[in-house]
Amino acid sequence: MTLSNTERRIIENSIRDIKDFPKQGIVFKDITTLLNDKEAYGVTMNHLYQRYKEYNLDFVAGIDARGFIFAAALAQMLGVGFVPIRKKGKLPYTTIGEKYSLEYGVDEVEIHIDAFSKIPSARVLLIDDLIATGGTANASAKLINQAGATCVEACFIVALSFLNAQEELRKTTPTYSLIEVK
Ligand code: AMP
Repeated sequence: MTLSNTERRIIENSIRDIKDFPKQGIVFKDITTLLNDKEAYGVTMNHLYQRYKEYNLDFVAGIDARGFIFAAALAQMLGVGFVPIRKKGKLPYTTIGEKYSLEYGVDEVEIHIDAFSKIPSARVLLIDDLIATGGTANASAKLINQAGATCVEACFIVALSFLNAQEELRKTTPTYSLIEVK
């Protein structure tokens, strides 16, 4: 199940480019304008529902913070639980962490150790708004697997494919993006 050209255009046109944010040389893909547009938000969520309703998922996991918006809404539509993957130090209970490299330095994402404990060998979909270098998503998929579940797919509203973003993640996890920016 992929997007029709009309659906893709509606979503593409709703995403706003902000030049030089948060720093010089970055074109930030602002999805608040997608969320603000009921047609574009509806087309996005309906497509995600149609694609994933046959995946037999047990949970949808979202990456801090914009990934939460799509993941939590989709989990509710599919009738499954939602799991947050957060930046280090934000989750209150016992966590597992995974570090990943940034352009300068390292960052870390965490998941609650018992996030999937209600369902043995849970099937989990991972969602974020955007994949750039792929570091965040790759670390997040590892966390899902370390927490005893299986990351069956990683889904992004936007992929910056000029960065060969998905290469590392694809070695272990199938990926899907609604919009590709070449
Ligand atoms: P990365 O780990 O490099 O794939 O970065 C992905 C994370 O950074 C996601 O959570 C995105 O929300 C955010 N991000 C990176 N680059 C951009 C961008 N150009 N526009 C919007 N968000 C971005």
